[in-house]
Amino acid sequence: MKCIFCKCLSDNSKSIEHIIPESLGNKKHYLPRGIVCDSCNNYFAVKIEKPLLELPYFRSVRFRNDIENKKGRPTLDKGIMGGIVSIGKDEQFLHIMTENPVIAKGIINGHIKHMILPFNSEPESNDINVSKFLCKAALESLIYRVGPVQEWLDEVTEHPQLDTIRNYVRYGNKPSFWEYHQRRIYQEGDEFFNKNVSKEPYEILHEFNFIYSDEGELFYVLVIMGIEFVVSLSSGEISGYRKWLIQNAGKAPLQTDDELKVRNNPRGVNSWIGKKISFYTP
Ligand SMILES: [Zn+2]
Repeated sequence: MKCIFCKCLSDNSKSIEHIIPESLGNKKHYLPRGIVCDSCNNYFAVKIEKPLLELPYFRSVRFRNDIENKKGRPTLDKGIMGGIVSIGKDEQFLHIMTENPVIAKGIINGHIKHMILPFNSEPESNDINVSKFLCKAALESLIYRVGPVQEWLDEVTEHPQLDTIRNYVRYGNKPSFWEYHQRRIYQEGDEFFNKNVSKEPYEILHEFNFIYSDEGELFYVLVIMGIEFVVSLSSGEISGYRKWLIQNAGKAPLQTDDELKVRNNPRGVNSWIGKKISFYTP
């Protein structure tokens, strides 16, 4: 068996590769052992997923949606309270953590009365960590979609057309930046209903699929909490998808007519995040 990224023999590899990080709530989409070797799996964890999860948007989205990390610990975010402080929360309390004695004293004696929690509603565009993560997820999702059948594995591993994206992800080879398209298609926390999927309304944490343009270009579409990300598997340019959007009147490829939005953003509206919070000491 060969790793789909470095093409080295991976029969002895033990890692299970998560297409989307477990720390973004993914318990479902992963690849069996050997498809991504231990060395590539480790490289992705350190060089791609860790910096991705540390981006202010991803930290903030995990915090406000109570998404635990893979060790089951709640996410921390950062707020401003006389300086930068770490914040955590449980069902009852908001916890403020600081190693700065001046801030700690100011909070205790009531001189620092307000906290500002930044609300990062979207990741910054053109981020290299997001770009590399999308390209990694695109190749892995291709295998996930077709199933780990040897014939398809060979096709993906040996296909010379996929070498550019493979080497960009794994070795940082050219192009220096693989473009992607990013837009919000629904609000975080929106609920949907589709009788073919579930009897109850549901939230979509993430979903993905592939589309072919009329010009034969293959695009990977990944939606995470309402933000649609798209990369081309053929080249590091995204102009083909912009053209597709114009031809299709801006429609979102993953949204189907039988999936109805039934509740608007119940969390975002009432959330205290993004607001200034005041503290009162007796
Ligand atoms: Zn490898």
